[in-house]
This record gives sequence, structure tokens and C-alpha cells, in this order.
Amino acid sequence: MSVVDTHAHLSDLEDKETIIGNARRAGVAALVAVGANYTTNFRTIEWARAYPGYVFPALGIHPTEFADDDVSTSLSFIRENIEKCVAVGEIGLDYWDREARKNKDVREQQRRIYTKQLAIAREHDLPTSVHGRGSWRDALKLAVEHGPETVVFHWYSGPLDVLSELLDGGYYISATPAAEYSRDHRAALENAPLERIIIETDSPVYMRNRRRNSEPADTVVTLGALAKLKDADENEVARVTTENAKKIFRI
Ligand SMILES: [Zn+2]
Repeated sequence: MSVVDTHAHLSDLEDKETIIGNARRAGVAALVAVGANYTTNFRTIEWARAYPGYVFPALGIHPTEFADDDVSTSLSFIRENIEKCVAVGEIGLDYWDREARKNKDVREQQRRIYTKQLAIAREHDLPTSVHGRGSWRDALKLAVEHGPETVVFHWYSGPLDVLSELLDGGYYISATPAAEYSRDHRAALENAPLERIIIETDSPVYMRNRRRNSEPADTVVTLGALAKLKDADENEVARVTTENAKKIFRI
């Protein structure tokens, strides 16, 4: 059985050898490492260079990360390294962010930076990994208008009508370890066909039910939770989601 961790912030993890060793032992066949700002994008490229053919990079500016970032330098870095990338990400909107909640200019700025990156993905015919916390409807609308053909709505936990719209548009959602405990995320996974779901860890995100941070080896945690939700065999869920991931990221 093999799985693909399609969204991990390896740049936030220290011990490369242990992390990768654990992932391999758990059956993780490949990893998509995502960036979020200049520093983490730079480190993401380093991780991919250290594990060619195993760690595949995606670069992007995360909607809650650009305040401390030089956006134009980050965008240049993304463009300069785009040929190495299997996707643009993590990008998107986050209207639950403290600053975005109170300030509409911040929300507007998020949309501007997100749109620019959707255009980069479209221009280079790359898929994109989209964060849409509290903003799923706008995240989808802008993706339709400016984005590439293939969009993954990472950790989807929004309204079910937006979900059915995005599925109609041919897009995907990803499952995280929160498939074990988050009501909204579980509802989305129940309502999407397996053919449109990929799995990931969003490492090192804190798994609140397990009281520890995730690492790529925990892709099997996501797999187990998804298989249970779908009342399906784990091997079958691994097979379908891995096929989806390989098709999306061309790995
Ligand atoms: Zn993430």
C-alpha cells in the first residue's frame, strides 16, 4: 500500500532524515512540500533538492503570511523557480484571520495576491493548492475566473453548496488528519466522491485529538479516517487517492 502526502510544510520541520525515514516506513510514496512565504519557499526548494523524486516542491504565498513578507520578492522567487514546481501553493484566502476579520483592506489585499498567484499557475499550466478558511465562496470564484484547470481546495470544510459547485467545476478537495475530528471537514469528505479527494497531513499542523503535531508519516492517519468515513477498504482508498495525486501533480 502506498500513499502520497500532497500538502506538507516540510520547511517547518527540522530533522530531515528522521521525517523522511518515518514517511517511507509508513508507506508514503511521494510528498508535495508547500511553501508559504519567502523563507519557507526557499527551504522548500532545499528539501526538494535533498530528496529528488521523493519530495516535490510547490511554492506560494499563504494568505496569513504576506504581512511580514516582501510580496514582490516572493513572487519573483516563485517565478524564478517555477520550472522545478509541481504546483503553486499554498495560496488562498483566510477571512478568519484576526486582521482580515476587522479590516476589509486586508481581505482585498489577500484577494489581490491570491489572484496574482492563480494567474501564475494558469500561465504555467500547474495545479494549485488553495486555503480558503472562512472564505470558500470567494476562493472558488477567483479560482474559476483566474486559476488553472486543476485546483485542490485543501482541507475543505466550507458550505456544502460551494462544495458541489467546485466538484461540478472539476476541482478537488484534500483530506487532512482533521478527518478524524472536524465536523465540517468530515461532512465535506462524505459528500465528495473518492475520485475527487487526495490526502495529506498539512504537517506540522497540531492534531488536537491526538495532542501532537503531524508529520508526513501521518498520511496514514488521514487515510484511515477517510476509509472509515467512506466505509471503504484502506487499500482501495490508498489506490484511488494516490492515482488522483499522481494525475494532478504529474508525479
Ligand atoms: Zn498548509
